[in-house]
Amino acid sequence: MDPRDVIVAGGAGFLGSHLVDRLIEAGHRIRVLDNFSTGSPDNIAHLRGHRRFTLTVHDVIRPLLLDADGIFNFACPASPEHYQRDPVHTTLSSALGVHHMLEEARRCGARLFQSSTSEVYGDPEVHPQVESYRGHVNMLGPRSCYDEGKRCAETMCFAYHRQYGTPVRIARIFNTYGPRMQPGDGRVVSNFIVQALRGDDITIYGEGQQTRSFCYVDDLVDGILRLMDSDVEGPLNLGNPRESTILELAELVLRLTRSRSKLVHKPLPADDPKRRCPDISRAKRLLHWEPRVPLEDGLKETVAYFRQRLGLGAVSVAV
Ligand code: NAD
Ligand code: UDP
Repeated sequence: MDPRDVIVAGGAGFLGSHLVDRLIEAGHRIRVLDNFSTGSPDNIAHLRGHRRFTLTVHDVIRPLLLDADGIFNFACPASPEHYQRDPVHTTLSSALGVHHMLEEARRCGARLFQSSTSEVYGDPEVHPQVESYRGHVNMLGPRSCYDEGKRCAETMCFAYHRQYGTPVRIARIFNTYGPRMQPGDGRVVSNFIVQALRGDDITIYGEGQQTRSFCYVDDLVDGILRLMDSDVEGPLNLGNPRESTILELAELVLRLTRSRSKLVHKPLPADDPKRRCPDISRAKRLLHWEPRVPLEDGLKETVAYFRQRLGLGAVSVAV
């Protein structure tokens, strides 16, 4: 991309702030929109005063006039604990938020990137998940505010594309982790690392035999930038195809942190997907992209970040 005016909605969050750094490095002028519901000013504090960076505190469920060449939409809580706290607002953040961003993209002639999710597949009956799979979502369950909101957002993107020719790029992002996750975020990687570092019990929901496939944030951001620059119009899975059980993840975190925390079992949340792993053949073929950072290496970086966040000092992690 040539240097451009780029909007990053949700840019004070975990993924958005990493993307903002890459876009600033590439010479773009960035305007972040964020309501700070789950994001943190710390994630973008280093950019305060930068001549190509501006921040607008704004909730995307309300319209806003924008002037942009490109819009990245990340504005939605991502952790089940957060998105279930105010399910009405979560549904509106996805459905109305993307509508407002698309309306501005249409008006300015901008390209829009939508951060969709593996959750559009629900508790999948097809494994690994391919983009052509239409999913198995409980539209009334506690996760539906997120899942159906994101499905509706994809529909809205395609409606704008069909009706107005608005260029859209949609990534179905699978579980991603790394520095700048919030300690109280509630997602499994941050929970396990914080619990292990503090010597608290590690909370395994259910038997821990459910699987997820964890992608390091730098790999994901590479994929997002490639997708935004590409001609790929259909939704694309972006994630790491190495699948682990939640128990395996807990054991790896214990080893890397040299923690003596005990594993304790808690009830499995309703509709918790049993298996999740992306089929990334399309991303490999169309973007020449695949993740490079092994889980152990990415977790070491994330452990180092949480040590610092928790004020525990820089102790080396186990190799
Ligand atoms: P995050 O919670 O750290 O980031 C979300 C950001 O959006 C936060 O800064 C939050 O304050 C902001 N936000 C939320 N609702 C908003 C609203 N209505 N108006 C304005 N700002 C709002 O989560 P994340 O992991 O960085 O996720 C970013 C996006 O990527 C989300 O849309 C999420 O659904 C998607 N995603 C993330 C993952 C992942 O594993 N991290 C996986 C799939 C999809
Ligand atoms: N999980 C867990 N302990 C925790 C947090 C999460 O066992 O402290 C499990 C959760 O039930 C799910 C998986 O880890 O099966 C991933 O949860 P997360 O909230 O990170 O993301 P999800 O993929 O469910 O959206």
